[in-house]
Amino acid sequence: MAGIYIHIPFCKQACHYCDFHFSTSMKYKDEMMKALVHELQLRRNYLDNEAIETIYFGGGTPSIVPAKDIALLLNFIENNFELGSSVEITLEANPDDLNKTHLQHLYQSGINRLSIGVQSFHDRDLEWMNRAHKKSEAIDSIKRAQDIGIENISIDLIYGTPGLSDKEWKENICQALDLGVPHISSYALTVEPQTALGNWVEKKKMKPMDDEQAALQFEILMNELNANGFKHYEISNFAKPGFYSRHNSSYWEGKKYLGIGPSAHSFNKSSRAWNIRNNAIYLKKINADELPSETEVLEQKDLFNEYLMISLRTAKGVDLNYMENEFGSELFEEFKNNIQTFIEKKWLVLEKGFIKTTKQGKLMADGIASELFILDDKEQ
Ligand code: SF4
Repeated sequence: MAGIYIHIPFCKQACHYCDFHFSTSMKYKDEMMKALVHELQLRRNYLDNEAIETIYFGGGTPSIVPAKDIALLLNFIENNFELGSSVEITLEANPDDLNKTHLQHLYQSGINRLSIGVQSFHDRDLEWMNRAHKKSEAIDSIKRAQDIGIENISIDLIYGTPGLSDKEWKENICQALDLGVPHISSYALTVEPQTALGNWVEKKKMKPMDDEQAALQFEILMNELNANGFKHYEISNFAKPGFYSRHNSSYWEGKKYLGIGPSAHSFNKSSRAWNIRNNAIYLKKINADELPSETEVLEQKDLFNEYLMISLRTAKGVDLNYMENEFGSELFEEFKNNIQTFIEKKWLVLEKGFIKTTKQGKLMADGIASELFILDDKEQ
């Protein structure tokens, strides 16, 4: 089983913290939609005919394009790829795009899961972030989606933002709980250098939240959501039973995926490929029947490090049996030796053949993973 990711590289306006790939000009929208279909055609053998179980429209802002464009892409996939019996089809959406008609058309085109970029239920924060919506639009869009029958809804929320008090953060979480969404993805704000926020921080016009305070807000999040029946199944993802993101879970389970569109990544278990982050060059290459991507063949240690990084972020943890069988006894023994210090510090714990992060360890899962990476001699 495999997945397809399609990157829609357009946004209404640039959020001040964002460094994803997008353009705020819709000039090439029609050409881009044709090119995405063309790339699907060029790369239709990438997944070796494995059945598709998830399709994910990310961006950028997929909800900015008409539902008929999404439907065309889905039709092409249906006619040219093997599909599993129940395919999860997610579309990332911004609240200001989700009027009733658009939602109905998206639903009719086959979208059965929405990931809505709410980020905050406080207008003050939405304003400095340069989001295109207000709190009221976020609430209304979620209710409208629920009214037309889309049950599988995730919302994004950001914590650790400048000036966000713990009380305001709890209000955001409570609002999400009141709306009854079954999935929440929540990330600490990172200050990326090539963004307006990065520039303000560098010029000391805005002060980022310190790490300890942000860690406290992460703890508030874990406590509130655990107390309300959510399973913390990946560091940044919480879901009610039956509502895990199958698409994202397949990344974490090391399944194959094909990424289409500018900046999209692909993985086929032996190599990783990434498309160019430039709409004009992407279009030029695709129109010339050339793949706009670079490829890296993954060595055993790359696959090991990747498995470690991803699985330490999940509730399931590192499967010791899988690790030994997949990567051999030499890497496995090295790993077993290296984890002892983290177990002593109570950041990692061994449970029924799985190594997992403790509550404290979750705060630094990525750091722990990078300490445990197997490096080339020249990297040490
Ligand atoms: S809408 Fe999403 S992708 Fe577009 S600028 Fe904002 S955060 Fe980035």
